[in-house]
Amino acid sequence: MSEFQLRELHDTEFPVPAEFQDNIAITSLSRIYNWSRRSSMWPMLFGLACCAIEMIATAASRYDTARFGMEVMRASPRQADLMIVSGTVTKKMIVPIVRLYNQMPEPKYVLAMGACASGGGPFKEGYNVVSGIDQFLPVDVYVPGCPPTPQALINGLIALQKKIDGQSLANLDDVPWYGVGPSDPVPIPVLAADIIDPRQMELIRQQAERTAAGVGAARALPQAALDRVQIERARAAAAKGGTTAIAAKSSAPSEPVDEAIAAARLARRMEALARKRAKDAQQ
Ligand code: SF4
Repeated sequence: MSEFQLRELHDTEFPVPAEFQDNIAITSLSRIYNWSRRSSMWPMLFGLACCAIEMIATAASRYDTARFGMEVMRASPRQADLMIVSGTVTKKMIVPIVRLYNQMPEPKYVLAMGACASGGGPFKEGYNVVSGIDQFLPVDVYVPGCPPTPQALINGLIALQKKIDGQSLANLDDVPWYGVGPSDPVPIPVLAADIIDPRQMELIRQQAERTAAGVGAARALPQAALDRVQIERARAAAAKGGTTAIAAKSSAPSEPVDEAIAAARLARRMEALARKRAKDAQQ
C-alpha cells in the first residue's frame, strides 16, 4: 500500500500524530470497506453497440482502467459488480440484460454509457428500442455522449467511486444490500408483440378490461386514424349494400339501392371532412 493510499484512509475524527501518519491509519469500517470495493470493481464483459468500442478503448493501454482496479472484466455475472451498459438497448436484449443483472452478486452498480443507454439516443422513437435502461434497472451513473469518449467514461467511473465512498454500512435505506438478506430481483421483462414490464401488469390488465368493456380504448387514436376507420367502414357498408340489393331484390327492390347511395355519400363526406381537418392542422 502506498503512502498516498494510507493517508486516504485517515479519519479526521481520530487524528493520528504526524510522525505516525505514514504507518498508522484509524478509520471506520464503512470507509475501509467502501475503499476496498471501489478500488477493485470488476465490470461485466459485454457491449451492445458503438459505445462498446469506446469502452474497449478505455480498458486498453492508452487510458488503462487498471489504474482504478477495474481491468478485470469478467465474462460471468457471478464475478462482476459493475454493469456498464454500453450501447443501444433493444427490446430483445433487455430480457437477458435484466437476467444478467439479477445474477450479479450484491453490492452491484449500473453505469449507463452514452445517449442510447441513458434515454434511447438517436433511436428513441424506434419500435424496437428501450428508451433508457433506467426503465428497468437502477442506474447509478449516467455518462452523456454519442459516443462518450474514454475520458468521459473514466469521469463516470470516478463519479461512481465517489458515490461508493459516500455509502454507509449503517444506512440501510441508502444501500439496501447492506441490510439482512438479499434484495428482491428485478422482474424479467416479457418479449411479446411489445416488451412487457411485469411490474406494470396490473395497469395493463385494467386497460385490457376497459377496452373489452368498451369503456375506452387503452390508447386514444389520433383523429386522422379515426377518420380513416370511418371511411373504410362507410366503403364496406356501400359494398355490402350492393350485394344486399341482389339478395333482397324480390322483397323490396328500391330500398337496398338507397342504402348503397347513402353509404357512398357518407364515405365521400367523411373523406372531405378528413381533408378539411388535415388542411386545418397544417395552418
Ligand atoms: S449513444 Fe451513439 S455511439 Fe453510443 S450506442 Fe448509441 S448511437 Fe452508438
